[in-house]
Amino acid sequence: MPKEFRIYNTLSNQAEAIVPLQKDHLTFYSCGPTVYSYAHIGNFRSFITADLILRTATALGWDVTYATNVTDVGHLTEDDLTDPSGEDRMVKALKSKEGEQFVNIWDLARHYTETLVEDWHRLNLREPTVRPRATEHMREQIAAVEQLIEKGHAYETEKGVYFSVTSFPEYGKLSGNTLEMDLEQTVRDVVVDDDKRDPRDFALWKKDDKHLMQWHSPWGWGFPGWHIECSVMAMSYLGDRIDIHAGGEDLIFPHHECEIAQSECLTGQPFATVWAHTRFLQVEGEKMSKRLGNFFTVRDLSAPEAEGGKGIDPLAVRMTLLSGHYRKPFNFTIKTLKGNVKHRERLQEVIDLVGHPSEGVGEYEGDVGAILSGMYERAFDAMLDDLNTPAALAQLFGGTKMILGRGAGLDETARAAARRWLADMNGLLGVVYYDDQPQETEEEDPLAAQVEPLLEARAAARAAGDWGRADEIRDELTALGVEIKDSKDGTTWKRKQQI
Ligand code: AMP
Ligand code: ZN
Repeated sequence: MPKEFRIYNTLSNQAEAIVPLQKDHLTFYSCGPTVYSYAHIGNFRSFITADLILRTATALGWDVTYATNVTDVGHLTEDDLTDPSGEDRMVKALKSKEGEQFVNIWDLARHYTETLVEDWHRLNLREPTVRPRATEHMREQIAAVEQLIEKGHAYETEKGVYFSVTSFPEYGKLSGNTLEMDLEQTVRDVVVDDDKRDPRDFALWKKDDKHLMQWHSPWGWGFPGWHIECSVMAMSYLGDRIDIHAGGEDLIFPHHECEIAQSECLTGQPFATVWAHTRFLQVEGEKMSKRLGNFFTVRDLSAPEAEGGKGIDPLAVRMTLLSGHYRKPFNFTIKTLKGNVKHRERLQEVIDLVGHPSEGVGEYEGDVGAILSGMYERAFDAMLDDLNTPAALAQLFGGTKMILGRGAGLDETARAAARRWLADMNGLLGVVYYDDQPQETEEEDPLAAQVEPLLEARAAARAAGDWGRADEIRDELTALGVEIKDSKDGTTWKRKQQI
């Protein structure tokens, strides 16, 4: 019997066996952070869930195309009691004390994207197949909004373009916030616009010619809504239908509900088969969040004490996050963290004793190999069962104890089996720094797929002296939002700066 990978699907309210649309090839999107500050370990709790889905699917032998975005425009502050301003998070950050170090908003976005990736690696998350940025997909977003208007699902007012929720009767199927419910409970769009046809309609495009990040569109200068960004990036890289879409629990409504509405109205097909949501990492019973200021970042925790940090190994932070199941709220305490520092130290003792997997792994041979193989299989089964990390960690700790108990008595066969076990457990849980993955190549940029043949056709036209055709192709490239540069070495292209 082939193994089944079960994940709890918020859409059906039950754990389901994942059946990829393409055999043995998982397409998977996880909502990334808004890069207005350092990502905190609460954010990373959600990103680690995505990493575990990637690792478990890979361990099953599936190919995984995994996209996780960077939101660098369009995410407004929440319309809740503590911060109802509806200001753009990035702009607000730039105006803050911390924002003074940046030359402009693009510099701020660049800095927090770079530091995101640094912390990503510190916590031993595997690289996604692609990490698209919202600002680099403006043409596609504008095209999607135009199509939604054409299909009668969206309309323009003086202030922006809105998605008409009543045009999609299934609105609410993910969160339960259906169209029959009280208006007050389901209105979340922070844009106050009396011209909206229904207060629940949400913004696809916000007109604003004063905004620090703005693009020209058929509706004038402005910027996209946060929800359309993710629909467009997911579909650009993964296709109209995807297997799994993940994020933190706060994204169920409105973000993912709105993504479903937009995407399914665009394609007429179901968007994601499985919606996986991570419950919050909490501090003293409250959601860890940048807004509440009760957050820890990986860099703060791992910086040396002399530099004001806590000197904690990031892999101990990772183990702490793994010690709770992703679908249960998890209370983060320094005490739990310290407990995991001990676990991490013991794992290091194992590496010191048997060697690092990069020194070469053996087979599960001999009595030690047989025990470790059983432990790996149980850990794997636990991960296949809706990412049961506490059960998988129990196998890691059990194996650690067994290996350290035998100590110097381990022969080379047992040590090689132990290295194999470390590599396999790392494949599931990411608890050893060990690059066991072939370098992933970036998924081909969909724009490149359109541009390259045109460039070739233009080169051929020029070689044949057909200047009229060459000019026509240049116009086609311009219409795609592409700038080209001819030089003696050939023609290069880039996306046109859209400001
Ligand atoms: P944001 O930067 O707010 O867009 O959040 C990026 C991701 O982190 C989203 O998937 C959020 O749902 C998730 N997230 C934010 N805070 C937490 C938390 N305390 N625990 C778990 N996930 C979180
Ligand atoms: Zn998203």
